[in-house]
Amino acid sequence: MTISNNRRKTLISGIQPSGQVHLGNWVGALKNWVRLQDDPNYECSIFVADYHSLSGDYDPQDKRRQVLEIMTELLAAGLDPEKCTLFRQSDIPEHTELCWIFNTLTPLSFLERMTQFKDKSGQQDRNVNMGLLDYPVLQAADILIHHGEAVPVGRDQVQHVELTRDVARFYNRKYGVDYFPEPEPYLTDTPKLRSLTDPLKKMSKSLGEKSYIALSDEPDVILKKIKGAVSETEGRLTLTEAELDELLTKPLEERGLDEETLRGQAGVWNLIGLLRLFGHEGEAQRFVDSQPIRYGELKPLLAERIAERFADFRERKRELEAYPDRVLKIFAAGAERARETARKTMEEVRRTIGIR
Ligand code: AMP
Repeated sequence: MTISNNRRKTLISGIQPSGQVHLGNWVGALKNWVRLQDDPNYECSIFVADYHSLSGDYDPQDKRRQVLEIMTELLAAGLDPEKCTLFRQSDIPEHTELCWIFNTLTPLSFLERMTQFKDKSGQQDRNVNMGLLDYPVLQAADILIHHGEAVPVGRDQVQHVELTRDVARFYNRKYGVDYFPEPEPYLTDTPKLRSLTDPLKKMSKSLGEKSYIALSDEPDVILKKIKGAVSETEGRLTLTEAELDELLTKPLEERGLDEETLRGQAGVWNLIGLLRLFGHEGEAQRFVDSQPIRYGELKPLLAERIAERFADFRERKRELEAYPDRVLKIFAAGAERARETARKTMEEVRRTIGIR
């Protein structure tokens, strides 16, 4: 069965090969992918977004290893090629062809206001390349070339899925067709995770190793990173989570609180949020109820819970690492399947837009 001609909803999402999978990826996306591959309402495709990752600073020597590592980690996390089409983006060059066509439909102003573009341009200010700006258009092509209807992503990507909906509408309107669906983001029930070193930013590989916990981190590394996490020094929650979130959506001058205070509150809520996710029933609430929060207790407990949760993952990753060829084969077979749909879409698009 190809991706587009069945009655299940087409679900598609991707992850960049730019380091190890971290807890933010897990909470925001991967956890959902693993669950949804068993949901009979969806036909799932998950891809390694290697074209996208070229827009970040990187060393070409590392890329091949990073691609293999992320493939290995997706399998170790439980994605199953029997249930879900797994492929590498650059195995399907049609994604970039459709991106070009979408470029001609997308207003520049829409791309310039994307939060991720603004963040990343700041982070890599010596390498503000066109790929950073065009990132969401390639993402639109990734989704729409497979007629994606549901896109399970983290909250940080919702704006990009909105743009995909715009692009689908622009295309359909310009060419007078009802061809591309307007996909919906599919969110987990967890808000985005924050960086351990700067909790006012999202947990991300680009902020350095200490800012995130990788799924494959060993228990001692997890403990060290959590011990170093920035949080409010007194252990007092002076804002509720909702108040904090609301303040952070406001411009700096309207917040009425200095950045350090907000960073401290964001940090402590991030730790509590992590314990809610990975701790046992009631553990997180116990700390909230008995303030000041004793970090000497909270941090080692949290580290232990995270390490326990991913013990199986670490084991499976080690097993898979012994057979890199098997991993590559799985993704090559997935690409063959996904490419059938992509080819068909591109043939139809070329005819519609008048170049064939
Ligand atoms: P990336 O590593 O940027 O390719 O992201 C892969 C997926 O993880 C995307 O769906 C993101 O929305 C999600 N994601 C990345 N960082 C976070 C975070 N800190 N919190 C929640 N979701 C995240």
